[in-house]
Amino acid sequence: MSIMLNGIGVSRGIGIGDAYVLYREQPEVQEYLITEEDVDNEIQRYTRAKYAALTELSSIKKRIDSDTPDEILAFIDTHLLMIDDPVLNTGVLNHIKKLRNAEWALQIQCERLISVFDNMQDDYLKTRQDDIYHVVRSIQLCLGDENPQHQHHGSGLRGKVIVADDLTPADTILLKHQKIAGFITEYGGPLSHTAILARSLGIPALVGVHKARQLINANDKVILDGQRGMLIIAPDHKSLKHFKTLKRQHEQRKIDLKRLANQPAITRDNQHITLHGNIDRPEDVKALRKVEQTGVGLYRTEMMFINAQTAPNEEEQYLEYRKAVKALKGNPLTIRTLDLGGDKEMKDTQQHGPLVHNPAMGLRAIRRCLKHPESFLLQLKAILRASAFGPIRIMIPMITNHSEIDQVVLMIKQAKAELDIKKQAYDDNIPLGAMIEVPAAALSAETFAERLDFLSIGTNDLIQYTLALDRIDDEVSYLYDPLHPSVLRLIDMTLQAGRNAGIPVSLCGEMASDATYTRLLLGLGLKYFSVPATALLEIKSIIMGANILSLEEEVRQILKLHHHVDISRAVDSINRNKHTAPLKLHG
Ligand code: PEP
Ligand code: MG
Repeated sequence: MSIMLNGIGVSRGIGIGDAYVLYREQPEVQEYLITEEDVDNEIQRYTRAKYAALTELSSIKKRIDSDTPDEILAFIDTHLLMIDDPVLNTGVLNHIKKLRNAEWALQIQCERLISVFDNMQDDYLKTRQDDIYHVVRSIQLCLGDENPQHQHHGSGLRGKVIVADDLTPADTILLKHQKIAGFITEYGGPLSHTAILARSLGIPALVGVHKARQLINANDKVILDGQRGMLIIAPDHKSLKHFKTLKRQHEQRKIDLKRLANQPAITRDNQHITLHGNIDRPEDVKALRKVEQTGVGLYRTEMMFINAQTAPNEEEQYLEYRKAVKALKGNPLTIRTLDLGGDKEMKDTQQHGPLVHNPAMGLRAIRRCLKHPESFLLQLKAILRASAFGPIRIMIPMITNHSEIDQVVLMIKQAKAELDIKKQAYDDNIPLGAMIEVPAAALSAETFAERLDFLSIGTNDLIQYTLALDRIDDEVSYLYDPLHPSVLRLIDMTLQAGRNAGIPVSLCGEMASDATYTRLLLGLGLKYFSVPATALLEIKSIIMGANILSLEEEVRQILKLHHHVDISRAVDSINRNKHTAPLKLHG
């Protein structure tokens, strides 16, 4: 029977595939098919692992002190019984006979048993799920020790829909290479960095699907619609056909949009708009240039740190930045200095910030860099050295006050002085800009603009901090509202500040890549957009169909409205008459 669930669609596209349910607390389970001849060996391998797990647990039982409470002893006895439980073991052997490797067979049986417990009314029995996890984990670890030499048939995750409690940005980067069909998480908001990564990688994704891991079993067929925010488990033939058609249409639209590649983004009333890309790693430049030969408005350098065991040193960073700027072949590269903190942390706990209740408001981004000037200096020197190879701009995240700008300016001076001593080349006129992400910064944009070469509005954080909603908490994601009058006013003020000071102001938050807001932003006077490569041509098609002069008038009226419903209706209305660039006429 099909089941339909709702979640928060965070990355457009249709994902169709078999589910791969990720249990963080278990070792990663390898999946591959074995041959008929391998079945006996695989059964023996499983049996050996099971006995190894039993022996290990029995020896723990023998070693524990005589004054250990009875409950603990009873707990170990329960686990010993469960490891040897016929329901668990017969199920595993049956899956192996269906040519699954032992790890995979054990995983499938584990999920079956968990779902049985899950349907029980008794809360105590429900908690026994944890025992199953622990027991299965102990056998999986022993299976891992046996180190199977079987042929692994390609990537186990290719074409799968990943179902997880939550994915960190680091997990998402690792999944990127596996060509998954999409992912579903139980937690997370639309502005989490995981969601942003999914969009920039073009992976259909849904977050906030509570209890997804209880409702979806390993290998269930799943359809997820990242635009409408829904998923279907075990779809019937009709739904499958319908969503396959939608998927094809989505892909066709992407192909049609390619006709706009490298055409200038000029509006109907002849205004030139700059469209840059957002990247996470130098390798992303290649994907960007496939879509458009343009510059980068946001390079999130922290992505290089979050999967590293230790922080990259100056040389390693320099090589990365140089790779990116060289790949851009003369187009500008805006390097955002390290924005660690919030939902982006390094693996190595030593590098983590202190445990705080409210990391988004804590020692994040420039605050963290200024707290560790020796590491910040390394990054500044690496950026400066790379600037000898092409146009680079330095962008400071989460700026809040002038004293932070003073300190950054001093540190850039120091970095240059140290490079001078070593006679290392750099661009002495490297532009310095800041992100407007905190309401205080938008309110001070006028005076910031007098001291900086450019500004860039980070609406993801600007919305988070203005509306006091944690961007990774799905419970408050209903408050996320780029059309909130306060948000619109802060954007308007920042754009005005840039015009007064004669410096460019770009917008690099997710709002820039959502076609719903393109005409509104153009009407507010935005001339520089920075978006993931996957959204660039869609946004360009709207820009090419817009007439800014008439939009400006309409948007001035929108700024006078107070209520979300009225603003949203007015934005719908300016979008209804929208023209998009005539995709079929060119090329
Ligand atoms: C933003 O806050 O809008 C932004 C672009 O930065 P990040 O999403 O990396 O915090
Ligand atoms: Mg930000």
